[in-house]
Amino acid sequence: MRRLERTFELWPTCLRLSFGMNNVPAIKLLPRSGSVPRIWRREVAQILIPKDALARRVRALARQIQRDYQDRDLVMVAVMSGTLVFLADLIRHVTLPLRLDFIGVSSYKTRTRPGPLVFTKELGLDVRGRDVLIVDDILDTGQTLARVLQRLQRLGPRSLRTCVLLEKKARRVESVQADYVGFEIPDVFVVGYGLDYAERYRHLPFVGVLREALLRSGAAAASPRPVQPRKTG
Ligand code: 5GP
Ligand code: MG
Repeated sequence: MRRLERTFELWPTCLRLSFGMNNVPAIKLLPRSGSVPRIWRREVAQILIPKDALARRVRALARQIQRDYQDRDLVMVAVMSGTLVFLADLIRHVTLPLRLDFIGVSSYKTRTRPGPLVFTKELGLDVRGRDVLIVDDILDTGQTLARVLQRLQRLGPRSLRTCVLLEKKARRVESVQADYVGFEIPDVFVVGYGLDYAERYRHLPFVGVLREALLRSGAAAASPRPVQPRKTG
């Protein structure tokens, strides 16, 4: 039974996978796709990348990073907060000594299209002379990564590279390219595995496509489910 479930989970990924340049898996949208857990079906239209495929790809990225940063002074700088799940999985497969820091960048909240960017958290570590790897959730128009690169470059690192879990090529406006890419995906709004819509859905174990109707109506943004405070003591 378990094996059958696993086959169903992986089968749609086989259908939607091809390999683009640099061997980055390119994920296609399929008209129909099953197996969104019932509790998420009203909000998530389809699972684009199931958790097993994420796990395998993140391990492969970690192996690549491990090879490239032998004998380096690695500082990973994660862009908050969409990287949280990806980062946690990635670093646990890297056995090199490394330092970790975070930078906060925000465009207007609850939007699915980018607005003006503001830095909400600066680095705590001194990265001068170190090998910095920026980790971000998704490279879309490229504005975020371009701004972060610019800012970190000024701090005088020895080297500066970028690693993103997802990349959408369709809406690029900055000529920025990531050095490590998990998956190339089509121009759809995705949530899960750290990615949010109005601060929701970050905890989904897969990357899924948010339903268009929800985006159009702004439903999740306008009416987040009330949080019941837990009784303690
Ligand atoms: P860019 O500046 O490259 O246009 O966008 C990068 C940021 O926009 C990402 O770090 C992410 O926060 C947000 N973003 C872009 N596309 C998506 C998406 O499909 N889903 C989610 N949840 N965020 C996205
Ligand atoms: Mg982000």
